[in-house]
Amino acid sequence: MSSTVSSLVQKHRPDLSRYEEIYKHLHANPELSNQEHATASFIVDHLTKISKDFSITEKVGGTGVVAILHSSRNGASSDKYPKPIILLRADMDALPVLERTGLPYASTKRMTDADGVEKPVMHACGHDMHITALLAAAETLCTARSSWNGTVIFAFQPAEERGTGAQAMVDDGMYSPERHNIPIPDLCLGGHVMPFRAGTIGTRRGLVATSADSMRITLHGRGGHASMPDRLIDPIVMAASTVMKLQTIVSREVDPWDTAVVTVASIQAGDAENVVVDDGRLAVDVRTTSPETRRKVQASIERIVKAESAASNAVAEPTFQTTRSFPLTINDETITARLESAFSSHFPSGAQGYTPSIPKLGGSEDFSILGSAVGAPTSFFMYGGTPREVWDKCEAEGTLNEAVPINHSGLFWPEVQPTLGTACDAYAVGALEWLVGES
Ligand SMILES: [Zn+2]
Ligand SMILES: [Zn+2]
Repeated sequence: MSSTVSSLVQKHRPDLSRYEEIYKHLHANPELSNQEHATASFIVDHLTKISKDFSITEKVGGTGVVAILHSSRNGASSDKYPKPIILLRADMDALPVLERTGLPYASTKRMTDADGVEKPVMHACGHDMHITALLAAAETLCTARSSWNGTVIFAFQPAEERGTGAQAMVDDGMYSPERHNIPIPDLCLGGHVMPFRAGTIGTRRGLVATSADSMRITLHGRGGHASMPDRLIDPIVMAASTVMKLQTIVSREVDPWDTAVVTVASIQAGDAENVVVDDGRLAVDVRTTSPETRRKVQASIERIVKAESAASNAVAEPTFQTTRSFPLTINDETITARLESAFSSHFPSGAQGYTPSIPKLGGSEDFSILGSAVGAPTSFFMYGGTPREVWDKCEAEGTLNEAVPINHSGLFWPEVQPTLGTACDAYAVGALEWLVGES
């Protein structure tokens, strides 16, 4: 079946030079999380141009776009959407990062963020590549439609960087019959461009990305003149003690065979030499690799912060505000095994092609929510974007870790080709693996 899939993609893949221009357009016009309005309109316009047969739903969870395409041959009237139903996901948002690539299509955009502050904007995580590749895959699958049976859902998701977009789509009734009524997928596939050599692609079974929980904590003291410590409840000493005690969660409470990160990323309390302010503020970032450890670490943070606060005689209980929350990303064993066989039949194997053991993601992802919300298995693949010349030079010099710009850097620069072709094929091959030959 896999060789059929590969030849179908070869035969029906559109001329990608058009998509290279689309990529450059999207790159030059990035939009911050939850503000992906022009991007969403562009996606809708493009899909409409490809074919009138995409059934398109806009404004899913804010700016989300969901397009459905099903095979013409197998649409039993009692069953609106023929099976199997495959969801392919691309995220759409950019980041408040100043682009420094110097590329002719570099972004010079600025936007006002959710806090009302104007920021430079850049597709520094490569989501423009994800969108372009999924559009090219949509055209490939549309053109090849007489050769497959089933339904494909193209999900263009907002606000991945905030960790809220996938949940917002689900909460907005993406799958609800009373609301957007998108059919429940049998499986979901997503992908991400990474700082690996362009042209490489990989899958991985099991855990691929940690969960992430970010929170802001406020410790409540009583400020006043720095010369009268006996009249104060010093939030700085309270915060310092809390920060040190938080270090013991990973070193003293988490199983040494397990992995977790508890980072106090910011600490703020006053800025004058002779004034102590009322409150101390901490920003804490937590990464874990299992639901049990996630619960345990969260409980430990709360216990320690409350106890240190009480020990310092705080004037009120500390306040906690969760600012970001990403689930664990765990690739389903069964569907990933099938993806391995599809990818290994299509892409060349080895260090410059496909590997079934790609390194885990450095960050976190909310993609899996689109599946877990309805009990559908998910698998997330990753592909390289680093220009081959840059990669090979750095590899020869032993400077891959220092000199290759990574996601979220103002210098992050995916080489348009072969990255776009690899990503387009990954979506198309991934879907066709289930859509071909199951009738
Ligand atoms: Zn990112
Ligand atoms: Zn990303």
